[in-house]
This record gives sequence, structure tokens and C-alpha cells, in this order.
Amino acid sequence: MTPAVASRSMVFAFARGALTPVAAAIGIVLAMLLAAMAVWGGLSLAWWASCFVAIMLVAASQIVHRPWAGGRPTDTGQPGRRPSETNLKRDIRRAIARGEFVPFYQSLIELRGGTVVGFEALARWRHPDHGLVQPDQFIAMVEDAGLMHEFGASIMRQACRDALRWPRHLRLSVNMSPTQLGGRVAARRMLDEVRATGFDPHRLIVEITENRLIDDVVLARATLGVLRRAGVQVALDDFGAGFANRHIREIDINAIKIDRSMVQRAGALEVGNIVDTILSWSDASGLPVIAEGIETIEHARALFELGCDYGQGYLYSRPVPAPEAWQLAWQ
Ligand code: C2E
Ligand code: CA
Ligand code: CA
Repeated sequence: MTPAVASRSMVFAFARGALTPVAAAIGIVLAMLLAAMAVWGGLSLAWWASCFVAIMLVAASQIVHRPWAGGRPTDTGQPGRRPSETNLKRDIRRAIARGEFVPFYQSLIELRGGTVVGFEALARWRHPDHGLVQPDQFIAMVEDAGLMHEFGASIMRQACRDALRWPRHLRLSVNMSPTQLGGRVAARRMLDEVRATGFDPHRLIVEITENRLIDDVVLARATLGVLRRAGVQVALDDFGAGFANRHIREIDINAIKIDRSMVQRAGALEVGNIVDTILSWSDASGLPVIAEGIETIEHARALFELGCDYGQGYLYSRPVPAPEAWQLAWQ
């Protein structure tokens, strides 16, 4: 390979983001060597200039391909490089079509007797190269790719099918992103998905998160209204995670999930007081409260003493694949 071809192909590789920062350093050294060779070998000024441009391009490509703040995996699966939008969309769409996104299930427990009353579906990506990927690594990517409806429908379909095999008194809770609160048509489409599986919408709870909940309260109310009329219940997720809790009055809610940041400090006096207030208020309004993130007997005891009826957390079970959830359901 001539120095010219070598330096040009290197520049293209960097421009495509195909090389790593270590390779970038090697590239810079090589480019400088080429420049030196050009000068010592008496090559023209144009040669020297092209090497200089190569170095500049290398540096620029490193800035263009700087790591994402969150270090999320990309279309190539390499953490730290932002994929192009088309690639991202294509890869997520393909992963949905191949059934790589699957629901795991975490049991919802009645604290008094420790019995299972239902399961929350929590999505996982069974990535062919990277194994099991957690939702905080891909939910935002699905949102970015504009494929939340397709993703949500796929998880909902699989979860309803799995839940059909559980005892009939058990509930299924499914997380819904704010982008899925797209109005009546979106809600009817979701109900069609549920009914097509044969699952009774009266056994379904959708969990919506307050922090990102509602840019458009009217649209959200319309969406949830359609679901509720079909018997679906609505739970407000991550309650007490530091948001205004204002939607509780604006939207019909059937249950509240206390955020794990509060649950895990429920023994501490000031947090205990807040949880106590939430529970007394929920008692008055008749809304059941579910405590998230119960990891220890102490958490469970503190919450139960404060009057909380339901909970979930690693103390009872981590999120598990469908066959294990089935076993827990029939225990
Ligand atoms: P979330 O809905 O608040 O789910 C509860 C999270 O807490 C889950 O994390 C669960 O694994 C974790 N967790 C449960 N018990 C404990 C515990 O005792 N200790 C600790 N430290 N953590 C516990 P996961 O599965 O990583 O899900 C993260 C978030 O991703 C979920 O938070 C939810 O907002 C989102 N998500 C998951 N699946 C879906 C989905 O299908 N659709 C949408 N839109 N969002 C989803
Ligand atoms: Ca949830
Ligand atoms: Ca939550």
C-alpha cells in the first residue's frame, strides 16, 4: 500500500467512526511519519499538505464521534458511539421483528400474607451479541427511533399471552411510555392487541410515569379514558420520586406505586412521615398503594406498619423470564 492509499483509507475509516480512540492515536503517529517521509523523501508540498489534512480529519472525526453522555450501546453494539438515525431505526425495527425484546416479570405481593397478586412486565433485550440488555440501556433508543408504539405493542402482546397461562385472579401490569398516550386511536389499537390475545382487559394495569407523563394532559386523558372504559386500570408509577404529583388530580388513577427511593428510606423518620401521609391520603381516597423496591425484611415491615398493602422488590423476586414467572404464579 502506498503512503497515499494508507493515509486516505485511514481517514475514511475514522470518518466512518470505524476505529477506536487507541487506533486514532496510532493513526496520528502514522500520519506524522508519512509527513516526515514526504519531507525527507523530497516529495511535493501537496503531499505534505495532504498528510496535514489527514491529521485534521482524524481529530475532527474524534470530535464528531465523541461518546454519548449515557454510554448507551449503539447500532453496532459498541458503547459510546452515536449511531446514525437510520441505522438505529433499522436495528430496533429488526430487533422487534425478530422478537429480541421480551418481557421479564416481577411479582406483585400482598404484604400481609406474602402472596403473589400479579406481575409487572419489564422489558429486556436479548441482544445476539451483547446478551441481556436492561431497559435503561435501550428505552431511550426506542424512543429516539420513534418506534415506541411498535415496541410497546410487541411487549404487550407477549405479556398478555404469557399471562393467559397464569391463574385468573393474577393481574398483569405493563409500563407505558408517554409517547404511547397518543389519543383514542392509539388506545383502541392497544386494546385490539390485548383482545386479540384473548386476555381480559379487566386483569390489565398500565403503569404511567409522572416525570415524563404529560406534555398534553388532554391527549393523555383521552387515551387513558378509552382504556379505563374497557376495564384497564391505571397506576401512577414512581410516585414521590421528586416530581410535582400534580397529575393525580388531573388524571383518573386507580393505584399509586411509591418510588423505591422513598421505600428504601421508609424507616427514616422524615421519609416515613411522607410515606405515612401518602398512605393516609390513599386510604381516604380508596386508592391502593404498591411499594416498589422492597429489598429487605425491614423495608417490608416498615411499610406494612405504615399501612401499605402491596409491594414488590428483590426481597420477593427479581424480574424473571416467563417460565419462571409461570412457576411463581402457580406456587
Ligand atoms: P419501573 O417501571 O419503575 O420498574 C421498576 C424497576 O425497579 C425495574 O427496573 C426493576 O427491575 C427494578 N427493581 C425492582 N425491585 C427492585 C429492588 O428491590 N431493588 C432495586 N434496586 N431495583 C428493583 P428495570 O427492569 O431495569 O426497568 C427500568 C425502567 O424501564 C422501568 O422502571 C420502566 O420505567 C422502564 N421499562 C421497563 N420495561 C418497560 C416497557 O416495557 N415499556 C416501557 N415504556 N418502559 C419500560
Ligand atoms: Ca413500572
Ligand atoms: Ca417505578
